Amino acid sequence: MKVSFKELGLVNTREMFAKAVKGGYAIPAFNFNNMEQLQAIVQASAETKSPVILQVSKGARNYANQTLLRYMAQGAVEYAKELGWKKPQIVLHLDHGDSFETCKSCVDFGFSSVMIDGSSLPYDENVKLTRKVVNYAHKFDVTVEAELGVLAGVEDEVSSAVSHYTKPEEVIDFVKKTKCDSLAISIGTSHGAYKFTPEQCTRDPQTGRLVPPPLAFDVLKAIEKKLPGFPIVLHGSSSVPQEYVDMCNQFGGNLPNAVGIPEEQLRKAAKSAVCKINIDSDSRLAMTGAVRRHLAENPSHFDPRQYLKPAREEMKKMYIHKIENVLGSKNKAR
Ligand SMILES: [Zn+2]
Repeated sequence: MKVSFKELGLVNTREMFAKAVKGGYAIPAFNFNNMEQLQAIVQASAETKSPVILQVSKGARNYANQTLLRYMAQGAVEYAKELGWKKPQIVLHLDHGDSFETCKSCVDFGFSSVMIDGSSLPYDENVKLTRKVVNYAHKFDVTVEAELGVLAGVEDEVSSAVSHYTKPEEVIDFVKKTKCDSLAISIGTSHGAYKFTPEQCTRDPQTGRLVPPPLAFDVLKAIEKKLPGFPIVLHGSSSVPQEYVDMCNQFGGNLPNAVGIPEEQLRKAAKSAVCKINIDSDSRLAMTGAVRRHLAENPSHFDPRQYLKPAREEMKKMYIHKIENVLGSKNKAR
């Protein structure tokens, strides 16, 4: 049975992105697979009155079950209202849709936004596939994110050894032909918790920590010039906070040389036409770090609530920090 996202109380990204581009901030897109992550995301966005994109990958759909996810998203809207957020601005978005069929099934299942990732295809095939998804999605007022350029790194089923920056000379033609609502670009961000090899980084002489290479802001600027005011999306934009990496490693983990995108660079991007910033690994690290620490310090505990509660609190703290101090989306959905 088909259901419209509007019946679930969700919104699409159209108005949200237009405001964000104009206002010089970005909307957080947080991935989730389970209840504790969802609770933390909803609490953080309700408390800060920040618009939010709940992001579900194909892997998350397989993990959690698509029917359950849809009711969880509907529950998120009701929960947000219960927390005192009168008009929650919540999007349910498919991350890295890999086929027309996956995107169609999400549109039919109540998603308010989908991504079709044809970035690994030859240009003309990417255009064709994206156009097909847009044609279907727009019938139901569902917005579509497309991708040009290839990100390095590993994220669920999506992986690539090398990155290819988006070619600014292609973006006008692509957007015109596909009629997509937003465009994910490649300017040096990367999926996962190991965004750069130590060889790609320099070392901070004081701390010995890896310092990643800067993002290609010249490419971003060239794209903005071609498409003034058009919503741009950054994938692979976790910062991999070293406090969580340390927390994992201190309590039995083994994550050597995990490194992300410095928040300073994301702050700069959020002020541009970048209006959606994807964050997944940071939540995984906060949760795992907190669980490891709790279990190491309390070896007798075996009730999952005992270790998931601090994990949830740690994630919430991280989400609020991103909203307030990195993306600038606080109070943008009052
Ligand atoms: Zn991605």
